[in-house]
Amino acid sequence: MKDGRYGEFGGQYSPETLMYALSELETAYREAVKDPTFDAEYRRLLREYAGRPSLLYLAERVSADLNTTVYLKREDLNHTGAHKINNVLGQILLAVRMGKKRVIAETGAGQHGVATATAAALFGLSCDVFMGIEDTRRQSLNVYRMELLGAQVHPVTDGTGTLKDATSEAMREWSRRVEDTFYVIGSVVGPHPYPEIVRDFQRVIGDEIRAEMLRLHGRLPDALFACVGGGSNAMGTFFPFLNDKGVRLIGAEAGGEGIDTDRHAASLTKGTTGVFHGMKSIFLQDEEGQIAPVYSISAGLDYPGIGPEHAHLFRTGRAEYYPVTDEEAVCAFEYLSRTEGIIPAIESAHALALFRRMKDQFSPDQQVVVTLSGRGDKDVEAIGEYRGRFQKEEYHD
Ligand SMILES: *Cc1c(COP(=O)(O)O)cnc(C)c1O
Repeated sequence: MKDGRYGEFGGQYSPETLMYALSELETAYREAVKDPTFDAEYRRLLREYAGRPSLLYLAERVSADLNTTVYLKREDLNHTGAHKINNVLGQILLAVRMGKKRVIAETGAGQHGVATATAAALFGLSCDVFMGIEDTRRQSLNVYRMELLGAQVHPVTDGTGTLKDATSEAMREWSRRVEDTFYVIGSVVGPHPYPEIVRDFQRVIGDEIRAEMLRLHGRLPDALFACVGGGSNAMGTFFPFLNDKGVRLIGAEAGGEGIDTDRHAASLTKGTTGVFHGMKSIFLQDEEGQIAPVYSISAGLDYPGIGPEHAHLFRTGRAEYYPVTDEEAVCAFEYLSRTEGIIPAIESAHALALFRRMKDQFSPDQQVVVTLSGRGDKDVEAIGEYRGRFQKEEYHD
């Protein structure tokens, strides 16, 4: 990788006001990773605060049922319930190191906002979170959660009032107050050096998988599955294996109501090359480059683009990406709950659903790892509604 490029993707497409801030960030980051005290503090927080290493769990009942061998990488067991805390702790440490007193973040469903508010509370930083107004209504519990943690939530009324608008507003706010503000970005997206920084803070997922599989089996896994929104849990899972050609890297994107409808978020399957949010990547857009509205039952996968490194892995064929529909994901959500007693995030259920669909490509003596990016408590109500569980019952007498 050179100048933040992944093949033709990546780069820095930012207004002049942010170019200085981005280069200041890159310098601070390069120094931090060379400083053993930074790494030691990051590792200590991962262990003592986030609860790492996360478990690599042999799902025996699923394996028996599907006639395969499948391990689950349990990011759902982390503090705040998902992988997002890995990245947020790293970026907050960087903010503190740079002497910033205030952090800002964008959030869709609220997961990244909650993780950022959590880490800001831990370090006594002031925290402002930008959230589409539509999302503040749909996720009012997470708005309150962020407020409890001491953050201020700013509803964004532009556009469709969802994640892409919140991201644009967070970038504008950053350019207004670059001196005292650190922008904590939530996925492997945005202008260089963000995709690299977030990937480096998430690679702990793949590093742990690698060490544990070598310890258990003396060999690498045959395939890794992860869901992709912006792509941070997948990039963290895949990255340490990029040069191991024998390991298949497989991403599940949100197929929504089907990729032949306009209700999906399958950026790689249906998207085209473009520039948005400071990066060159693959986006769902019309012929004029207007970003398309996207949809998924899972708020965490509801983004019209994908990180530039994934775009590159997709174009070069090193990783494979397939869309998974809402219905398939909901079935996998129910399946894992009943089979293993683990209620996964609906995002993570996309990865498991894809593995179920592809299971015949793997024999029982091969090992497959599915990353469970988060826990499903946040989704129980929405899935219940999807299944008609909470509709008013009709009483007959
Ligand atoms: C945010 C989120 C995702 C999607 O983000 P990535 O950057 O693609 O990992 C997936 N799963 C969960 C549980 C999330 O909270």
